[in-house]
Amino acid sequence: MSLNFDFNEEQIMLEETVWRWASTWLEPQMEKLYEQDEMPPNLFKELGKLGVNGVAFEEEYGGAALGYVETLLVYETIGRVSNALAMSVGASQTLCFDNFRRNATNEQKKLILPKACNGEYIGCLGITEPNAGSDAMSMSTRAIKKGNKYIINGSKTFITNGPVADVMVFYAKTDPDKKSRGISTFFFFPKKTKGFYCEKIKKWGMRTSPTGLLTFEDMELPEENLIGGLNRGVAILTNGLCTERITLSGCSLGSQRACLELSIKYAKERIQFGKPIASFQMIQEKLANMYTGYISSKLMAYRAAAFCDALENKKGGKGTDLDRMAAAALLYCGEMGTKIAADAIQIHGGYGYCTEYPVSRHYLDQKLWDIGAGTSEIRRMIIARELMRDDFQSAR
Ligand SMILES: Cc1cc2nc3c(=O)[nH]c(=O)nc-3n(C[C@H](O)[C@H](O)[C@H](O)COP(=O)(O)OP(=O)(O)OC[C@H]3O[C@@H](n4cnc5c(N)ncnc54)[C@H](O)[C@@H]3O)c2cc1C
Repeated sequence: MSLNFDFNEEQIMLEETVWRWASTWLEPQMEKLYEQDEMPPNLFKELGKLGVNGVAFEEEYGGAALGYVETLLVYETIGRVSNALAMSVGASQTLCFDNFRRNATNEQKKLILPKACNGEYIGCLGITEPNAGSDAMSMSTRAIKKGNKYIINGSKTFITNGPVADVMVFYAKTDPDKKSRGISTFFFFPKKTKGFYCEKIKKWGMRTSPTGLLTFEDMELPEENLIGGLNRGVAILTNGLCTERITLSGCSLGSQRACLELSIKYAKERIQFGKPIASFQMIQEKLANMYTGYISSKLMAYRAAAFCDALENKKGGKGTDLDRMAAAALLYCGEMGTKIAADAIQIHGGYGYCTEYPVSRHYLDQKLWDIGAGTSEIRRMIIARELMRDDFQSAR
């Protein structure tokens, strides 16, 4: 039996198309946009023209009907230019709209997904609250039913795309006595809804990807805005976190690859002691470690994505192999990405410390992947929990 690690022709074409766009349209704007902390205004419409806003979505909604391997490949390719914007694209496409697609009714999907695919709508997902981060199930945002409406009060923080989102998916307690079993999922249109407020959060990394502190004050939503049924939120949330961890590994992978490629080029060009610094063994050691780290990260992430694509029900969360594999993929990509970016700065010396050199952005952005989508500590807790399952059989 053979194992084939190569991308197929369609995947290679997809990568080439996104790379051509990212290296010619996005790259020339990045230094200025990063300094201003501004997202390119037409980012999602541009991606809509390329047909990559709904990589795994059904064709009837304007999607490409591919899978999570291809979604990961798109995020990796954007991440080669901008880790931050790959995260924004992932927050919209995977966290918000894919979660929505997997749980909404056909009527709800028809209303939202075609505009998500053509880039008219940007999405965001709200789990985290000021007092409920790693312990997400302790969220206190409340949705109280009054007649045929829900009244929402509470807040969500660190929400990627919050300041620019047209559609938000979020979780709220509908039956607090039931704790995690009393959480439901809702969607709404932030720009058109009264009682919704957003404050942009200032960050030192992941600039250009806007992050918001969002507040709901007696915000009224029609009951039709409930997704997936009353008190069914915990399964939606934990399933969604698996595909989020797998596909967003691509943001780190893209940065890892960029750091390696930029460092090889720089090390060959930079002359010290009369020779290119690439001829020094201590620089070569770093490049060899960066390469090995990138390839290992890539295998972990794409294997998890392929595993998920092969699952008929795509079920993740507690008690599934997918939960362990997704947590392991992002744990490895995140921690390796932080190391690789630090090596890239070291190889670039003082120039690596200057904003003119893209490695500086990759370095600042990479640290997020030890934190976002559940921290490294939480990912280790998930992996250990799944290894200790009574029915755990093989260390896949
Ligand atoms: C740029 C950015 C974008 C983000 N985007 C989104 C988004 O789009 N949507 C969203 O909902 N959230 C988003 N987040 C939130 C992110 O998922 C949380 O920051 C993360 O889950 C950690 O929560 P916290 O920051 O409250 O840290 P805390 O939970 O307060 O953790 C602080 C420290 O304690 C550790 N810790 C906590 N509990 C344990 C434990 N039991 N054992 C060991 N160590 C523990 C953590 O690992 C961490 O090191 C984003 C965050 C950032 C910074």
